[in-house]
Amino acid sequence: MSKEVKAFGTYAADKPLEQLTINRRIVAPHDVEFEILYCGICHSDLHTIRNEWGSATYPIVPGHEIVGKVTSLGDSVTKFKVGDIVGVGCIADSCRHCDACNEGNEQYCENGWTVVFNFPDKILGGMTYGGFSQSIIVDENYVLHVPKKLDLPSAAPILCAGITVYSPLKHWKAGIGKRVGIIGVGGLGHLAVKIAKAMGATVVVFSTSAEKADDVKRLGADEFVLTKDVEQMQNTPKLDMILDTVSGKHDVNQYLNLLKTDGSLVIVGLPVEPLAVRTFNLVHARRSFSGSNIGGIRETQEVLDFCAEHNITADIELISVQDINTAFDRLQKGDVKYRFVVDMKTLR
Ligand code: NAP
Ligand code: ZN
Ligand code: ZN
Repeated sequence: MSKEVKAFGTYAADKPLEQLTINRRIVAPHDVEFEILYCGICHSDLHTIRNEWGSATYPIVPGHEIVGKVTSLGDSVTKFKVGDIVGVGCIADSCRHCDACNEGNEQYCENGWTVVFNFPDKILGGMTYGGFSQSIIVDENYVLHVPKKLDLPSAAPILCAGITVYSPLKHWKAGIGKRVGIIGVGGLGHLAVKIAKAMGATVVVFSTSAEKADDVKRLGADEFVLTKDVEQMQNTPKLDMILDTVSGKHDVNQYLNLLKTDGSLVIVGLPVEPLAVRTFNLVHARRSFSGSNIGGIRETQEVLDFCAEHNITADIELISVQDINTAFDRLQKGDVKYRFVVDMKTLR
């Protein structure tokens, strides 16, 4: 049993997104159904629709920074009521019994968690469809409360970009007395600057874009390093941790060399090309090269609450559904400050 809703998606890697119809399941006892109000555009949506990672199954309805208003509930739902403002990020479900799930790390579920789009749909069959649609139905355990204080469109990116940077910053203990580097000032990077600063760290931004220098200080960064400038790179004092949010091919060795002894370079960006590591850069100072994937449900609620407490939202460009294809082209060129968010009411 299912019902049809309008959506915006694509049938092939080289085709633009267009309006289409998808099926949503009927509300089950633990399900929350909500009308989608806003949905951010993440670079992962772009990698996926253009099949850069080789994992695309078409048609694809992307979108995984989803906020909206609850319209109906299953009989057994206890955490939400009709009219609540809620959010869903990447995780739509998980096995709920492995060690990772039990620890609240659903993003590392040992039995495979359900991505909210372009992932096998265990209930309806076919693939899951994301937030570029009128409504969505998700089990209440994977739905977040969006704090009332947050501006809704600019809060949407917290559901992927925000949690993706918050989780490693917290895990690697960014805070007072720590020098934290952020590579790339895009959707993830600009929120990483704000969040690391709110955690109390000294924030050093590494960017390929000279024109972002002033703006990055406005976001809260203490230092700006233009990565093409060899002298600036060499003169940068060493860092405790560097968070790499870059979406394209780049050389990580120049950043490994900027870490103190025991420092960590943490990758969250997902470029298609493998990254070459010169092993000397690790062994000479007991450095770590590691990665991090979004964050669990509990931690996603935590970052939403953290952002409300510290008045943090994304800097966004709000667009209509009809502008989605232009937005994806601009995102590819790095022409966004710093996140596109789609007003989903324009789909009606
Ligand atoms: P974005 O808005 O496009 O930002 C990426 C930034 O990286 C750009 O603004 C640019 O910053 C820099 N950059 C891009 N290409 C570069 C290159 N070839 N060399 C050096 N710098 C480059 O993308 P996003 O939405 O923040 O996502 C960033 C990456 O994270 C994507 O690969 C995405 O798939 C991945 N991601 C991972 C997770 C996870 O859980 N691990 C979650 C969400 C997204 P400057 O202009 O400042 O140099
Ligand atoms: Zn994302
Ligand atoms: Zn699990």
